[in-house]
Amino acid sequence: MTIAETINNCVSCPLSVNFNGKKVIGHGNKQSSIAIIGEAPGETEVKYGIPFVGKAGQALNQILLDNGIRRDTIFTTNVIKCRPFNNRTPYTDEIEACLPNLMLELSYVKPKYILVLGATALKAILGYNGINKWRGSWYDWGTTKCFPTFHPSYVLEGRDNWEKNLKTLKMDIAKFLRNANKF
Ligand code: URA
Repeated sequence: MTIAETINNCVSCPLSVNFNGKKVIGHGNKQSSIAIIGEAPGETEVKYGIPFVGKAGQALNQILLDNGIRRDTIFTTNVIKCRPFNNRTPYTDEIEACLPNLMLELSYVKPKYILVLGATALKAILGYNGINKWRGSWYDWGTTKCFPTFHPSYVLEGRDNWEKNLKTLKMDIAKFLRNANKF
């Protein structure tokens, strides 16, 4: 079975069993040394079956482009492949149930550098709590270097300090891209 078939056939949590949209599987360049990992697809992503094509994705694309990188030259995916109702944060059991799908994708792509977007991806991959505490630095995950930063959706939601957070997000992504390939 291909990775896409395995993920499409997944019924490992109630979310996947009851889900009737398109599962959102990793997209982009599977040969890339760089992967970006978000939380879960939103409404637009489920419509197209592609990660980060909605508002957060457009913001992400622009920040990457500002650094000379086209999104389709790298690999992008999410921790969760189905959309939680009303974009709620995925539950821990959903994350655990979906983790083998993410691991399957990563074992194929074998990225050397992962941009970890937001607290859910941070917890799922590195096991750390709290994006504010860990963002902006590199952490080893096996032989892969991970760099957590804010999730663009979190910044765009316009919470307190959103302008400062947007500046930080842009600064972090620039640092990630500048330092990736230098280890
Ligand atoms: N937010 C995510 O975490 N992933 C997407 O694909 C879109 C929005």
